[in-house]
Amino acid sequence: GLDLTQFEVGDMIGEGAFGQVYVASHKRSKRVKVALKCMVKSQQDRYLDVDGHSTPVLAEVAMMLRLMKAPRCPNIIRLHNWLEIEDNFVLILEYAGSCQTLLQYIKDTADIEENQARQLMRQLIRAIMFCTERGVFHGDIHTANILVTLPRLELKLIDFGCAQPITQKPFNKSDYRGAGHGMPPEALRCRVFHANPAYVWTIGIMLYEIMHGRLAFNNRQSIMFGAIQIHPRLSTACVDLISQCLIRNPAKRLQLHQVEEHCWFNPTTPNPV
Ligand code: ADP
Ligand code: MG
Ligand code: MG
Repeated sequence: GLDLTQFEVGDMIGEGAFGQVYVASHKRSKRVKVALKCMVKSQQDRYLDVDGHSTPVLAEVAMMLRLMKAPRCPNIIRLHNWLEIEDNFVLILEYAGSCQTLLQYIKDTADIEENQARQLMRQLIRAIMFCTERGVFHGDIHTANILVTLPRLELKLIDFGCAQPITQKPFNKSDYRGAGHGMPPEALRCRVFHANPAYVWTIGIMLYEIMHGRLAFNNRQSIMFGAIQIHPRLSTACVDLISQCLIRNPAKRLQLHQVEEHCWFNPTTPNPV
């Protein structure tokens, strides 16, 4: 069986709301590094059934397992295994080497160019599309839950702790367990929301934050009513994409399958002189 003594635990590499993440190496295959996400069990933990398992597992694990069946998406962090040790859960995750969170990357990089933003957004959208295909609503996409490798800017979506299965039924506002500033306006206004338009809202929020270095909306009031202040240095295509993703009425918002076809992702090559 698997237990923690098989790992040499190194530095703490992250701290979230519910636990710590350590880098570790598997002793037998010395060079293979993993990230151990350690969490203390709580009353609020949700459990879900997984195909082939008779006992429900932690929802975070169940949702990740849906994404681990081949073919996998390179933009979603891999779950190698998990352990339950007394009052703790430990997720054994792929370690994204020489990476930082998108939050840190944005802080460290003044005026990110549209070409870099496009590269990041393509990968984020690939991860999101893959989640929808596997029936997973991530529910907590923000810059601390996205890792970016340097210098290649490969993106990995992490932290499925708020993820939920997508069904025919809409989600309720109370199902939204992620950071408040990521909540789509329809969840606040109508109290119900669907995964796809909520994902498109998130895409708009992320592109805005990458291009401006700050949140599009700070609070619920501004999510529902605030004007979007877009920087004049952005291209018209970029402004258009942000605006179309951040249309408050989900019926009028750009649809998920239309996002990748938006002209910002298909810049015309400049005419050779
Ligand atoms: P929480 O659910 O507590 O927010 P996360 O899964 O978001 O926990 O992890 C917390 C932090 O740990 C992340 O923001 C990131 O900095 C770091 N981290 C998590 N997973 C990895 C990983 N696989 N590789 C590298 N760093 C990671
Ligand atoms: Mg997190
Ligand atoms: Mg979490």
